[in-house]
Amino acid sequence: MEYSDRKAAFANGAKTYNTGKPCKNGHTTFRYTTSGTCAECITGTRALFVPVAKSPADTEQRQIMADVTANIMDQKFRVFHQDAIALMTMAEALCVARWPAAPTSMFRVKAAATGGAAGTAMYKVRIHPDDTLTMRRVAEALIAQHSRTSSQLAEMRQAAITRAAELVDLPDDEVYTRDPR
Ligand SMILES: [Zn+2]
Repeated sequence: MEYSDRKAAFANGAKTYNTGKPCKNGHTTFRYTTSGTCAECITGTRALFVPVAKSPADTEQRQIMADVTANIMDQKFRVFHQDAIALMTMAEALCVARWPAAPTSMFRVKAAATGGAAGTAMYKVRIHPDDTLTMRRVAEALIAQHSRTSSQLAEMRQAAITRAAELVDLPDDEVYTRDPR
């Protein structure tokens, strides 16, 4: 039989009882004798701790980020200081082409240039190993351009930045502001 009050349920060894009145959360189901707690309230509390399955989009994003982490590497290329932004923007554009769904912050490295010499320095970028040759050619071309006149150079540099900016947001100017000389 079902008891309508807790004392009676307890006295008779019944595990549950039902007052017929709503609990503080408005449930009208039975309560447990030992705690006096509404059964539906307990079920609801348990539901809060059941792990929610990750959505497919979350899983895919985690896999992409894991792939970036496993494959991206730091590499250094020598360019003139004024070409550093063009160099790193090109590196970032290559990463975006390779991992379009990954956050671009994964492609950026904040590091001071090293090995300053004659207006140039080694600048660190993050790239996929397969893009090493492409980046080496970019760096060599940027160096070679300095045999041209300054106005030709500025024009070509701007063209490179504009082209890269079509693919990615330009990085913060502050990234390579430290002069290694
Ligand atoms: Zn309840």
